[in-house]
Amino acid sequence: MILPQDCRLCPRLVAFRYMQRTNHPGYHSKPVNIFGADIAHLLIIGLAPGLHGANATGRPFTGDESGDFLFKFLYRYGFATKPASRSIDDGTRLLDCRITNAVKCLPPKNKPIASEINNCNRFLEYEIKSMPTGSVLLALGTIAHRAIIKALGLRQSGHPFYHQVEYTIAPSYKLIDSFHPSRYMVQTKKLTPEMFEEVFIRIRRFLG
Ligand code: SF4
Repeated sequence: MILPQDCRLCPRLVAFRYMQRTNHPGYHSKPVNIFGADIAHLLIIGLAPGLHGANATGRPFTGDESGDFLFKFLYRYGFATKPASRSIDDGTRLLDCRITNAVKCLPPKNKPIASEINNCNRFLEYEIKSMPTGSVLLALGTIAHRAIIKALGLRQSGHPFYHQVEYTIAPSYKLIDSFHPSRYMVQTKKLTPEMFEEVFIRIRRFLG
């Protein structure tokens, strides 16, 4: 399923996209497509494009501090060719890894509403179901986690979000949760480098 660059399913986000095109003429300000290898065994799911990150560059977790934090670990654990992702043409490649967001358009104040998460779930569902058997899904934050559970048709009450919880989704996937590496979470030390490292150790333990 191709993510339409003129998708209009969420009127509030469409209006916000147009506003950003006026405010920041050089920015991407369209739905942000999945990034990474065609066939991969790690799918990382974030919340939504950041204003000056993915919304600006057109690539998830690229061009902002969240991306800087994430890519250090992707590189360290062999999932990226460079320790940073700064622009769509910087040559950075993902290895056995794809990155996407639960909501593909920039939401005001980084807060999508329920209908927007639901509208965009069709794209996430396709991305998840395209992953091969034995893949790891890494949910960054509660909204990503809940969007994954919805896309998989599972009960939310049976799969609560906790940092570092693991769920085996029979027969295909392992779901691992982490706090989102947003600037707020990192600066307040709710998510430390040591905590994030433990997440990647678990992923490598599973994928080898
Ligand atoms: S958030 Fe998703 S469903 Fe909503 S307009 Fe953007 S691409 Fe379409």
